Amino acid sequence: MAYTLPPLPYAFDALEPSIDARTMEIHHDRHHKAYVDNVNKALEAHPDLAALPVEKLIADLEKVPEAIRTVVRNNGGGHANHTLFWESLGKGKGGEPAGHLGEAVRSVFTSFENLKTALSDAAMKRFGSGWAWLSLDPKGKMLVESTANQDSPIMHGNVPLFGIDVWEHAYYLKYQNKRADYVAAIYDVIDWDAVGKRFAAHKK
Ligand code: MN
Repeated sequence: MAYTLPPLPYAFDALEPSIDARTMEIHHDRHHKAYVDNVNKALEAHPDLAALPVEKLIADLEKVPEAIRTVVRNNGGGHANHTLFWESLGKGKGGEPAGHLGEAVRSVFTSFENLKTALSDAAMKRFGSGWAWLSLDPKGKMLVESTANQDSPIMHGNVPLFGIDVWEHAYYLKYQNKRADYVAAIYDVIDWDAVGKRFAAHKK
């Protein structure tokens, strides 16, 4: 098959207590797997599209036949978003971004605290399901944005550096309706070195 579920790069309980093991297991093994299975199924008759890296696939949805475009948008987006999400978190991480990423954050947001405020605000104001992002625009300018459902910044030409999944499936078992507590806790497990590598690969 075209796309495969990447193994979680750490144990299910690695992000405790910010994200509980049961949530991680269901989120990765069922939700992310379903996005992969569904995009593969939609592209069964389109091996040319299925051969593209998922970021390329969702960057140009106009190339996807209209009959399967929404399915590809939701599930290709879901696959790309979750792959980035797992890679951006880690056991014993947190803290502040260093190096070039840290400099860029301070240059755009004045301070890391201001970035946190903007990102958390975007996460809280996303009504229903979606994501809050730290992204780069096509000119390489850093910004905070938010998308609905499984839409990716890639779909409008931006580069996602880090995203907070605010679907209830990402936090409901532990936090129930308290999205703000989940959002606050995620900063303890963000792997800023991984985000910094993504920034270095895309900055202009
Ligand atoms: Mn999710």
